[in-house]
Amino acid sequence: MIGLQPEGDVDWSMYRGIMVVVEQRSGVAKPVSWQLLGEARRLADKLDAPLMALVMGQDVSHIAQQAIGYGADIVYHADAPELKDYRTRPYSRVCLKVIKTYRPEIVLMGATYTGRDLAGAIATHLPTGLTADSTQLDVDDERLLLASRPAFSEKMLATILCKQFKPQMATVRAGVFQALPYDEKRTGKIIAVHQDMHENDIVTKVLEFVQDDNRVNLEDAQVIVAGGRGLGGPDGFKLLHELANVLGGTVAASRAATDLGWIDHAYQVGQTGTTVRPKLYFAIGISGAVQHVVGMQNSDYIVAINKDPNAPIFQIANYGIVGDLFEIVPLLTKAFQER
Ligand code: FAD
Repeated sequence: MIGLQPEGDVDWSMYRGIMVVVEQRSGVAKPVSWQLLGEARRLADKLDAPLMALVMGQDVSHIAQQAIGYGADIVYHADAPELKDYRTRPYSRVCLKVIKTYRPEIVLMGATYTGRDLAGAIATHLPTGLTADSTQLDVDDERLLLASRPAFSEKMLATILCKQFKPQMATVRAGVFQALPYDEKRTGKIIAVHQDMHENDIVTKVLEFVQDDNRVNLEDAQVIVAGGRGLGGPDGFKLLHELANVLGGTVAASRAATDLGWIDHAYQVGQTGTTVRPKLYFAIGISGAVQHVVGMQNSDYIVAINKDPNAPIFQIANYGIVGDLFEIVPLLTKAFQER
């Protein structure tokens, strides 16, 4: 915090409530935004403060409405052609205006590429700090945000406070919190926000978004079929791809498998990989080391297949199959194909 000075005397008690910046692409909100609203609802109730959402884009009024259904009391809605595609300057301009006008005491956004870029841009324009890539959130009796994140090569969990300034800001990993069930009957206030853009704000033009079909998207996957060292080599992943194809799922891996070069690091689940929250997670030939478990333990259903009945993964699995994966996985694939 050294070196940061607010402009003049600021009455921090004027800052109240929690604001979640909702991320969307092409009119579809990112699941992490609804997960964050779910957790922020808990914190806002603890603080007895309003929960706000900020929705930016072009033709995104349906997302503003969705934010109410996912728990927001007030939604600030900025709709403009300049906001059609994410660009740092126009988006940060709107964010800064909303923060300065409505003064939330806490601002949260997803630790996605966009969220990381936007949060950094905003924090540098405000006299405040930013806890990046948090995996736990809470508030204390002094209304301080307790944002925790892995630190020191992921060997410990550090809780970081911003004591001097408001808003307190954090980006949060996708998949660590649960969205509230969508309630279309929930009511709330939607407030339109208008921000004139300067010529200097529009320094880049997005010509086209090209979807990379080969990109691994574990964060949004509903079914994940993950494999570990027990697969014995890269060929073992062929079995997992077959099962994943039948289930409409995505293949993933433990760090042992990625470190051995059997599959790309982008597929890694866990503390130093991606945190996931699918409906169904298969852990196949994975022992269940704590660094793996922290990245998948919030899955709705966990099915573990391991030849060692004492493997720790069975402690968190909803269903466990003890046996040789090379026999069991093809049988499962066949059984699902026949359904
Ligand atoms: P192992 O622990 O070797 O387990 C292999 C399992 O396969 C065993 O349980 C065995 O019984 C079973 N098996 C073998 N053959 C068969 C068969 N034919 N049929 C059925 N079962 C079989 N790990 C991660 O996954 N993600 C992370 O993000 C991560 N981050 C880390 C960060 C740090 C700082 C550190 C120190 C470690 C991290 N790790 C991470 C590594 C982690 O500690 C484990 O080493 C790793 O998860 C083990 O991977 P595994 O379960 O595939 O392998």
